[in-house]
Amino acid sequence: MKGCSFITKEVPAYVGNYTKNRARYGKISEITVHHAAGIVSVDALGQLWQKKGRAGSSHYGVSGAQIGQYVSEDDIAWTNSNWTANCRAVTIEVSNSSGAPNWEVSDISLQTLVKLVADIARRNGLFPLVVGKTLTYHSMYTATACPGPYLKSKLQWLCDEANKLADMPEDGTSSDKLTTLRIGPASAGDVLTLKRMAEDLSVPFAEADGLMTIGGMSAGDAVTFTKKADELGLPVQTAARMYIVQAGFFEEGNNAATFFAELHKKGVECSIVPTDGGFRVQCGAFTKKENAQAMVQQLAAKGVKTVLKEV
Ligand SMILES: [Zn+2]
Repeated sequence: MKGCSFITKEVPAYVGNYTKNRARYGKISEITVHHAAGIVSVDALGQLWQKKGRAGSSHYGVSGAQIGQYVSEDDIAWTNSNWTANCRAVTIEVSNSSGAPNWEVSDISLQTLVKLVADIARRNGLFPLVVGKTLTYHSMYTATACPGPYLKSKLQWLCDEANKLADMPEDGTSSDKLTTLRIGPASAGDVLTLKRMAEDLSVPFAEADGLMTIGGMSAGDAVTFTKKADELGLPVQTAARMYIVQAGFFEEGNNAATFFAELHKKGVECSIVPTDGGFRVQCGAFTKKENAQAMVQQLAAKGVKTVLKEV
């Protein structure tokens, strides 16, 4: 399961209680907090999602110091009562410590939640977290008491505490000002060296075939990594500008999904990407402009009109 590396337990949900392959529908852009509406262990919550016909699930559960994972972050859990929101959310159910009407949550669960939220945000590039945007809650999407008055009153605190765990520049600039480096190709030994550095500095790290993507990080950390790469004789690049081939843009997720299905019928590979104010249906992202232009022409030949966007 793709996700947090410090979970206590994995209890895979029944395959009919969530949707496989999030990448077909969108990408992670928020974390949604729920309360379990009960005092439950991470095991008991997992058992609920294992029930055939339950038609519900969550990615994670928090109870005291324990974290359970039930659905991979690469898949879509059915937690938010809203398909569009499910497509872009990593969801967490938090055990209560008391019942209605306050539905309190223990301090230990809250501390565990801060760490989990910070980890999800770090790995998915969601910093800085903002309540109502990148840190959301169930009642934003449907008429529900969830996450309960107590947990809801703690969301700003949760956000602030999690943001303290991000490797933010001191001036508090937003994540789009952070630097991402591409380093490599490198030997397995050099990859390990840089991976350990990234772990020590809490900087996001990804590697494939000896090519590393490291960041977003502060300018200071970028200097540290660049120096180390120089020392090891490895090529360093800052992450290139991307060229997106956009087939459509929709304010409503459902309309994007309909259009997505039409393109698929024509044999066009595309994905839905939540973006400012709506959803982009895109047919590829390229680092080289000429490759993106070639895709635009290829699609035009199939009768699909697209525009090139620089992001
Ligand atoms: Zn909920």
